[in-house]
Amino acid sequence: MKIRNPYTGEYDYELLVDPADAIDKKVTDLRANQKAWQHAGVVHRAKILQDWKASIQKHLQEITEQLAKDTGRNYISKYEVIGVMGMIDGWCYKAPRLLEEKTERASMFDSNVKIRERGIPYDLVGVIGPWNFPITLSLIDAIPALMAGCAVLLKPSEVTPRYLDPLEKSIQEVPALAAVLKLVRGGAEAGKAVVNNTDAVCFTGSIATGKHIAMAAATRLIPAFLELGGKDPALVLADADLEMATDAILRSAVGATGQACQSLERIYVHEDAYDNFLNLLVAKAKKVTLNATKKSEGQLGPLIFEPQAKLIMDQLQDAKEKGAHIHSGGAIETHHGGLWCPPTVVSNVDHEMTIMTEETFGPLIPVMPFKDEAAGIRLANDSEFGLSASLFSSDMASIERIAYQLEAGAISINDGSLTNKIYDAEKNAFKKSGLNGSRMGDAGLLRFFRKRALLVQTGKPAPIDSFEEIEL
Ligand code: NAD
Repeated sequence: MKIRNPYTGEYDYELLVDPADAIDKKVTDLRANQKAWQHAGVVHRAKILQDWKASIQKHLQEITEQLAKDTGRNYISKYEVIGVMGMIDGWCYKAPRLLEEKTERASMFDSNVKIRERGIPYDLVGVIGPWNFPITLSLIDAIPALMAGCAVLLKPSEVTPRYLDPLEKSIQEVPALAAVLKLVRGGAEAGKAVVNNTDAVCFTGSIATGKHIAMAAATRLIPAFLELGGKDPALVLADADLEMATDAILRSAVGATGQACQSLERIYVHEDAYDNFLNLLVAKAKKVTLNATKKSEGQLGPLIFEPQAKLIMDQLQDAKEKGAHIHSGGAIETHHGGLWCPPTVVSNVDHEMTIMTEETFGPLIPVMPFKDEAAGIRLANDSEFGLSASLFSSDMASIERIAYQLEAGAISINDGSLTNKIYDAEKNAFKKSGLNGSRMGDAGLLRFFRKRALLVQTGKPAPIDSFEEIEL
């Protein structure tokens, strides 16, 4: 596959796709190696993952450089790799305690029966990742699955594959890890092979692909953990600190060029605060700089995936035709072949416009006033998505009252997108934004286990007489 460089627009990389028989061989090897990994115990697995962390550290520069080419970013790529090392540390710290064996207990139904429960990991977990934070979202599920004792077949996005060679090098330098973690290179066909050959699948990506994966997994009766798209709303109440709210909303909406699932994509502001909010936001949006002149300077990188440019322009066109006003940005800029979209604040919007109903995955910030609390909540919930949301107010009572009415899995209070750095709060995606156990909190590890119960009879088993029929 010829791969485009988002900073230059050139197709300067060739991805060698794994043929079907190569994937089959990886599956066979992983299955052969998994039981030893499981039975070696969590302390051993933590040690091996620490060895891997050291190996990633050794190749940090190389992985970062390739990831930066994949994404058109610079330091953010290094930050991503460092974040992955932090994930390894986090699970190494938490997993031994989470996986401590529970002591035997008596059943509440028959105290002679003693119960021993033990978690049995899935043998082989498939992980399929997107392109927006390529290494983070490939490893966010793979690391806890490995820690649980599963083997992992990982297929990262074909849009951003350059970092896979140095990452694979870091894996191969730790043979005990290479035995249970293998990469698959390719697109949809390779993704299908992952779903068709594993015992549970973790998918991060679009709703459209998520539906295909859910159906393929259902056919095989394996669980699919789906982390899909979002159209996250922010509600700004009349008493919110507008300086703070506009800072946080701008960062959350356009940071990483809005190419994040939990980016704020719809902003609802109480009508009493609306004018001040809009003026402040527009002034701040206009100051945001692109990294087009120099990759290591500027706050906004290029669009990673070329088709996003058309999607963004289509949403803007639709909004303009229906009466929206553009206050900043508003057009795709081409620099030396790469495509940039500056922060684009849009007002006079409503829910007849795709900019308010469909995922953008770009730095558009549509802002709409609301009259009262009930109207604000109604607007925020008027969406098929339910990934996360934000709420800005200085009154804790209003926050509590409203937050629990928002149909989303994580609500950031007086900030935006907190789930991109707070991994220890368990949350589920609501509505079409996802399905099944949380990747956050303890569930991020525990969802890779099935429970096996040993039921030990310490008294006398009931005789057949206990089934003797008698008069009612
Ligand atoms: P995508 O659905 O196009 O592709 C994701 C992955 O699925 C890729 O690796 C692709 O090769 C693979 N794939 C495609 N068709 C497949 C099939 N039929 N079977 C198996 N695998 C298949 O998504 P994308 O464009 O890479 O990523 C952007 C999307 O991801 C956005 O919608 C975004 O909101 C979402 N996302 C969600 C989260 C979250 O945590 N909820 C995080 C990041 C991104």
